[in-house]
Amino acid sequence: MKYRKISQLDPVMLLTAQFRRSHIPICQVDLDAHAARLDLLFKPHKRKYLNRVSANMLFKNINAMTELSTTEHDCLRYTALVFSEWQRGYFSKPVQCVKLACPYCQSHCSIDHDTQMYCCDNKDCDASVPYWQGDHLPLGTPANAELRQQRQAVESLVVPVLANNILTKVDLHKRLLKCLGMPPKSLFNIYNLDSTQCDIVSNALIKLQPVQRAM
Ligand SMILES: [Zn+2]
Repeated sequence: MKYRKISQLDPVMLLTAQFRRSHIPICQVDLDAHAARLDLLFKPHKRKYLNRVSANMLFKNINAMTELSTTEHDCLRYTALVFSEWQRGYFSKPVQCVKLACPYCQSHCSIDHDTQMYCCDNKDCDASVPYWQGDHLPLGTPANAELRQQRQAVESLVVPVLANNILTKVDLHKRLLKCLGMPPKSLFNIYNLDSTQCDIVSNALIKLQPVQRAM
């Protein structure tokens, strides 16, 4: 390995790697501020050897930065993950030959790199689902326009609940899984929800929305 100490680490290298691969909207983040935060993040570890710093240590530092927005937090966490992959000399690569069937017409779904989605091959069907940046695996099940909109609505209801610290992500997911009648240890993933599940989850989320204060 070229670098042996954290002090020799170049945050720009991490940023470049993140730019290439991040599914987090890094374009919405003030990059200079992000670079400054990265400096702050690695500062306590400057004198340590690379292999003595774990992603978990960085996560702890990130969690302590309470003044940041959710996107900024996600962005920093992603950098920490990129760092840990880079530290181990490992980068996730696109998985080849993913077989994904359309739940509406059973056609094969092909990867479209322009839109970063898996799209149904059937021209009369508009089902699609985004994929993960690193390994290119689908985020969930393909959805038609109506279901995509429903999932988006769920997502926009989740954001204020987390941003206002009404519930932690773990607690929120547990509660929503309970509403869906799913075991608490299963994975809550908006991209796997069907239309009925979206309705159930939306109803639960509406009750959790922060109270709008009158101006
Ligand atoms: Zn289809």
